Amino acid sequence: APRPYIVGNWKMNGMRSMLGEARAIDRAAQRLMKVEVALAPPFTLIHAVHREVEQIGVGAQDCHAGEDGPHTGDISATMVADAGAKFVILGHSERRQDHGETNELVRAKADAALGAGMRVILCCGEEESVRDGGTAEAFVLNQLRKSLPQMQSEADEIADRLTVAYEPIWAIGTGRTPTVAEVEAMHGAIRTLLIELYGETAGSDVRILYGGSVKPDNAAELMAAKNVGGALVGGASLTAESFLGIVLAT
Ligand code: 13P
Repeated sequence: APRPYIVGNWKMNGMRSMLGEARAIDRAAQRLMKVEVALAPPFTLIHAVHREVEQIGVGAQDCHAGEDGPHTGDISATMVADAGAKFVILGHSERRQDHGETNELVRAKADAALGAGMRVILCCGEEESVRDGGTAEAFVLNQLRKSLPQMQSEADEIADRLTVAYEPIWAIGTGRTPTVAEVEAMHGAIRTLLIELYGETAGSDVRILYGGSVKPDNAAELMAAKNVGGALVGGASLTAESFLGIVLAT
């Protein structure tokens, strides 16, 4: 199985004064090679973080679906790749909510990111009302069916370039997490879908990250859950101390 993957999503946080955190995370990651570590800083810091680090992956939190052209304020996949990004987080619930991103748009962005030679972390997750209504799995699987890219590559390339992140919206920034049993049920359902879409070999190896209030003190339990291939970390990725606490617990 591929190495566990711990990814920090800095969201709309991060000034040049935080480059020291990225450097400290990178230095520690060089000694923790059994875990793959990456950071997604805001666009404004991608190039600076890329220059600062040697070991960890650097990625973007979004990209436009188009090549180039008259889209004021937008940033294309080739532009973030040019800045040093090796992956893009797409379909995050905050993008879906704040910017009205649909499954179809998320898929188009994923195609653009893959076309620019980058890897994709594709996010999914249900609102609390959906979980309470008992239809969380159906909701998430439908979201993924409509937003996952159609990849024709070799199995090992699919498993390398695609990662899925399950982030229940009610667990993001709330300090609440699903139970291990709930995480395993959802990740198991996602695994079955990935095998259906990409075949047994690739579908079994695509890592499925869990995200939502992952902290150093709950990481060991969540990361040990079946079909959990790592974590997508928001708040706790903003300092080297807490982020490395999660890496060490993995
Ligand atoms: P928190 O870790 O702050 O809950 O955020 C999770 C998340 O949305 C990562 O993408």
